[in-house]
Amino acid sequence: MEEKCPICGATSKLQFLPYKIPYFGDALMFIAVCPSCGHRSTDVMLLSGDREGRRRRYEVEISSVEDLNIRVVRSSFGRIEIPELGVKVEPRRGEGFISTVEGVLKRVEDAVRMLSRDVKGARKRRAEQVLMQIADIKAGNASMKLIIDDPSGNSVIIGDKVRIKD
Ligand SMILES: [Zn+2]
Repeated sequence: MEEKCPICGATSKLQFLPYKIPYFGDALMFIAVCPSCGHRSTDVMLLSGDREGRRRRYEVEISSVEDLNIRVVRSSFGRIEIPELGVKVEPRRGEGFISTVEGVLKRVEDAVRMLSRDVKGARKRRAEQVLMQIADIKAGNASMKLIIDDPSGNSVIIGDKVRIKD
């Protein structure tokens, strides 16, 4: 199968990678690396679980350092929300991943850092504030809620503390 690069339009080969998620089951990762510009597209599809392609909304309270290890699968259709940080990550094709809460925070951190380079004044202060909040959460000194809403049912947060809404 072939995939068209969203950045430069070149064609790349789509690779399939079976993936075992601990305490959950099987998933399939799709990876396409553009031969022209190097842009990497990834997506994920869950093969285990009882999702049956139904919309699912997962919520988990992150309140300790251990919670950072909670496993997170986000498909291209998954919308991520962290109300305490005022962060919303809209679904985007080619941006699926299998990671942890810490990995999600790292992505947010990187995005805010990149953004804050080009802004001044109130927006810059806001970005710095978010980065400090993330540091507090990572140190276990503050808590946050992580929400993932996915109409395709291919996202999941895995753990005993996780609440699921259909
Ligand atoms: Zn490209």
